[in-house]
Amino acid sequence: MHSVSSFLMNGLKKMNSIVDTIKARALKLGFDDCGIASIHDTVEDAEIFKAWLSRGYHANMQYMESNMDVRTNPTLFHANAKSIIVVVQNYHQQPSVWNSSYGVAMFARFSDYHHSIKNRLGMLLEEIRRINPQLNGSISVDSAPVLERYWAVKAGLGFIGQNTMFIHPKLGSFVFLGTIVVDQWLEPDAPNTDRCQNCGKCIAACPNGALEQPFTLNARKCISYQTIEKNNDELLDADIDVNNQIFGCDICNMVCPHNQDAIQSKVFKSDNSICLLTDDEWDNVASSRFKRLFASTPIKRIGVKGIRRNISHVKKNREE
Ligand code: SF4
Ligand code: SF4
Repeated sequence: MHSVSSFLMNGLKKMNSIVDTIKARALKLGFDDCGIASIHDTVEDAEIFKAWLSRGYHANMQYMESNMDVRTNPTLFHANAKSIIVVVQNYHQQPSVWNSSYGVAMFARFSDYHHSIKNRLGMLLEEIRRINPQLNGSISVDSAPVLERYWAVKAGLGFIGQNTMFIHPKLGSFVFLGTIVVDQWLEPDAPNTDRCQNCGKCIAACPNGALEQPFTLNARKCISYQTIEKNNDELLDADIDVNNQIFGCDICNMVCPHNQDAIQSKVFKSDNSICLLTDDEWDNVASSRFKRLFASTPIKRIGVKGIRRNISHVKKNREE
């Protein structure tokens, strides 16, 4: 009996030491926090997500309807998935010079984060596999059908705000999330007990009432959807006030009290060649200059055509 319990204790200690190592390595790789959740194949939020889709609140983002089975069952994303490692990356930028009256969301003022986060998650997975070569895992940063915000909450890293954002209790909501789904059980973290203050400031501040009720976003009314996700061949919807934004929107993040003490990201820094652009330069940005300026940033996604369309919507709003 004694030897069995020592064996179990040793096994447990070994697992805990792996978890400690994973978290320490994640911080060393530049991530701001790391947590672990146990995989269960029925995601409680699946019904809420399906109801949201059925109301058409995802607008034209049809990709959200696909792979529903994978989204709600991580073992279809990675065979024998047992645990999920979630990392948090602060991207908040302290106010810096911004020469234009047009607005660009904070996350688009520096190099595209996908590459940086994926690379470092790859390094983290390699290091874990050096400790435990039997472990296999799959990485996701936004693009895979993994409910990252849901798992970040399950991993004890924070909570969801009325503005539908994931909020880290110390870092706020200007954060990116990344995950590694692994096929070995790892000691999970306890749930986080912090909560959204339910102050309603985000709902009141949204220029288009896109937060139709607490925790419910109607993407069609959201400036981020209109200026980023909308097909470049379509105009923005005439009833949308883009509030001078030509790429994305931070309003419901900026007003949130959980972001009051947000600190400068130690990994991402705004690119001065974007911050110093004047209205005139934005208005007249030529294709070749656009490619050079935005090649490595998320703005590249909508191209010069998308930026011109968004600027002309801002101008229309100003005339009204
Ligand atoms: S991102 Fe902007 S438009 Fe979208 S919900 Fe928040 S405040 Fe409203
Ligand atoms: S602004 Fe208030 S209600 Fe909205 S997410 Fe932040 S704390 Fe919650």
